Amino acid sequence: MNELRIEEELKEYKKLGRGNWGEGFGLLKGMYNGFITRIRDEAAEMEEEQDEIMPPMKMLLNLLLDLRNARREGRKICMHPFNYGPELLYTMGLVPLMQELFSVGLATTHINEFYLDITNKIGYGDNPTLCNAQRPLIGAYMQKAAPVPDLLFFLSTPCNSLSITYQVFQHITNVPLFNIDIPYWAHEHSSEFYDERIMDYMLSQLKNFIPWLEKQTNRKFEIEKFQETMNLVNQSREYVSDFNELLKTVPCPVPSIAGFGNWLAMTLRGGTSEAVKVTKYIRDQAAERVKEGLGGVEDEKLRIAWPYTHVFFDQELFKWLEEEFQAVTIMDILGFYPVGPHDTSTLEKCYESLALGTLDYSMIGTCRGPVEYFVDFLINWINEYKIDCVIIPMQFACKHAYAMTTLASEIARQETGVPTLVFGCDPYDSREVPSETIRAKISEFLNQIVL
Ligand code: SF4
Repeated sequence: MNELRIEEELKEYKKLGRGNWGEGFGLLKGMYNGFITRIRDEAAEMEEEQDEIMPPMKMLLNLLLDLRNARREGRKICMHPFNYGPELLYTMGLVPLMQELFSVGLATTHINEFYLDITNKIGYGDNPTLCNAQRPLIGAYMQKAAPVPDLLFFLSTPCNSLSITYQVFQHITNVPLFNIDIPYWAHEHSSEFYDERIMDYMLSQLKNFIPWLEKQTNRKFEIEKFQETMNLVNQSREYVSDFNELLKTVPCPVPSIAGFGNWLAMTLRGGTSEAVKVTKYIRDQAAERVKEGLGGVEDEKLRIAWPYTHVFFDQELFKWLEEEFQAVTIMDILGFYPVGPHDTSTLEKCYESLALGTLDYSMIGTCRGPVEYFVDFLINWINEYKIDCVIIPMQFACKHAYAMTTLASEIARQETGVPTLVFGCDPYDSREVPSETIRAKISEFLNQIVL
């Protein structure tokens, strides 16, 4: 009966997605149809019956449809990176497209590798110097397979690799661009790295962004709409904070990296009621299971911290860890969205919340300054979440993380006694270090050092 209801919903989505999505939108259409197939397969495998498509998956379908519709209807699309909340873009009536949904989303089916090879052929960078999280965009653009937005926005953090590829994309497409410099020092008074100029610096850049958006969209910035959007963002942040607390429970109530859905909600839909719905759903699921004393992994034996992105081309890696080692990976660095709710009672407070959310975003907060930011983050994670070991897949192109992870993991090991594994691989290219080698390395570490 319930399966029938999901089937009805899926049929409706299938119908909505029919037709030509337009130049550069074919791969997004493929992704949309892939999600429909995945939802159907997962519903068939579920032990518990579902009476509707789960909110995170529905959000992905709605987002892709929105992008297609925006292009058809002439509404403007603004491309932005994976470490930025789109609340200001929603305030201005834009349709945000998180670029990595495209270039990293394709890695889950290895389609990105075809475009990586084209990027190589035209001579744009190579694995060791520029990150493959963005490089497929260039090859795909050359093939007329990449979505070309109306506007482009990015930040100077988390890496020079991302900034360079976005600049190259802007250069070859001529799309109007705005970017923001993310400062190095801390905004918290309690930090030894505190600098009183940080907040003003961020606020002035964000406030400069608004007239640029007004000019590009030919639309006035509406204060009420902005406040409403910031209230929605902060409602979602409240749910995410609750969820992050619930994950401290032993056993961890949800399967590996369930928090990734929170990051998706904040990065794709932050500032909308849909993100509120998704984050509430994820929080409620965890809370219900804590109440019932249920673990995401049966007979949980190991709790893993994964303070880096996961291996996107191997979607079964965490499942394998759960089945082989009864190990739950509590979160990855993106899914560990660390921004708490702020006071948004006045307009100025809303601007502050926007600035703080940008400074502390997943990966930005830990990667934008001295290595101590990352070290403290890792040690707190280990202690608060009762972590048994740390695993970090690392690629050379991620130079800042490459430089700090070995140091941070060594300090964390000395201070907490928790073993750490840092190993080389490209999370976006299965041909660099294949899954079998990755699993062999992790097995060896868990069997010989952790267990
Ligand atoms: S993995 Fe590292 S180099 Fe690649 S986009 Fe993320 S931060 Fe940048």
